[in-house]
Amino acid sequence: MTEAEFRALVARGLGAVADWEADWRSFERDGALDVPAAQAHAVIDELGVRLRDNYPYFHPDYAAQMLRPPHPVALAAYAMAMRINPNNHALDGGPATAALEREAIAQLATMCGYPADALGHLTTSGTIANLEALWVATRLLPGTAVAVSSQAHYTHARMCELLGARCLEVATTADGAMDPAALRALARKERIGTIVAMIGATACGAVDPLHEIADIAHECGARVHADAAYGGFFRLLADVPEARLDAPRWHALARADSIAVDPHKHGLQPYGCGCVLFKDPNVARLYAHDSPYTYFTSAREIGHLGEISLECSRPGAAAAALWATLRCVPLNAEGLGRALLRCRGAALHAEGRMRSSGRLTPVVAPALDIVTAACMGDGERVSASELSRRAEEAFAALMSDRSRPFYVATWRVPRALGELALPSVVWDAPHALVLRSVLMKPEHAQIVEALVDRMAVAW
Ligand SMILES: *Cc1c(COP(=O)(O)O)cnc(C)c1O
Repeated sequence: MTEAEFRALVARGLGAVADWEADWRSFERDGALDVPAAQAHAVIDELGVRLRDNYPYFHPDYAAQMLRPPHPVALAAYAMAMRINPNNHALDGGPATAALEREAIAQLATMCGYPADALGHLTTSGTIANLEALWVATRLLPGTAVAVSSQAHYTHARMCELLGARCLEVATTADGAMDPAALRALARKERIGTIVAMIGATACGAVDPLHEIADIAHECGARVHADAAYGGFFRLLADVPEARLDAPRWHALARADSIAVDPHKHGLQPYGCGCVLFKDPNVARLYAHDSPYTYFTSAREIGHLGEISLECSRPGAAAAALWATLRCVPLNAEGLGRALLRCRGAALHAEGRMRSSGRLTPVVAPALDIVTAACMGDGERVSASELSRRAEEAFAALMSDRSRPFYVATWRVPRALGELALPSVVWDAPHALVLRSVLMKPEHAQIVEALVDRMAVAW
């Protein structure tokens, strides 16, 4: 879509909402909040200057964190619904966008292998989605502990603190994924009520062996929550051979009791769009509450989303944007999967090029589209502190190159994982810094060779 086509799309959408407004009785706008056009222009111009203080998240040479602009259709749809500003807490606040949310949820549930009528709703973030899942789990199994891998997002330990549940860390194997043997040993000693499986750990992108975790959970009567906030959409590629994903882990998503998946990560949405899904719709009873001042339209056959969510106000615009995006880019291998395959291909290509560079060693083989690189040749005898020094040098050099800056991130590999993943390193420090790059835009396929080649000589 060209810039002109995009602007026309936004104008078309805003025009449709203006037409709807014009169908109502006309009234006089109060002038109390009127702003002279020149002042509004000046402020918007000033904002344009202030917003230049950003890293170029839209650009393929930005390959650092999990950041990218939304799909143009998402932007147009968001702008339309935002003009109305519905609140998806209760049907009174936005019947249209509540219906759109349910339709989008059904598609996300189907993607994960859940029944289309599985319980679920959008959240403002993956953090809240995970919190809701852990809240449900710890209410169903009070007094039990939550087990997470040592590569899990820090949010899980923090949410356990909030819920008053003990959080137990499970060691990983050399690939950064939860070690089933360690989990089994822990389950013999402790009363574990919930096992959190990372489907794309934030730092290294590791995908926990969910199929084995589900078996262990079954043996010890625990629930399984899949934190697929980042990785969930890669389910679309589970059966695509070129993607080289470990299919059993992905098929096992359907066995998880709950799943968090963030449309604002790989679902082309603006921030403010997470999602939690529950396989058993009966957990809705845990949310039961009465609100004396909302829910006036309860006679409608579909319920209020606020009755099945911890959050109250939520943007209906987020649901409209997701729904519209999925109409254009459906959740299948040919739709969103096609773009994800480019990202996945870029990661696999990067891995191979690092290995043949003689100067970069992937810490873990990429399980998704996140790559990691220790600044060392394969098997080089080097200290952890020297690795960190090289990574800092490379990180700064890549970013500060005036002719063509590359933006990557870094990752502090803990010694316990490093001893497994990088056996030739001499551990004189508790961590080693390595380079990390999130190749989450399909355009990353175009730059990945240049990026890896530059990473290799940047220290
Ligand atoms: C991003 C992320 C989260 C946190 O989600 P937010 O939307 O940033 O609140 C949790 N888990 C994983 C695996 C993530 O990638």
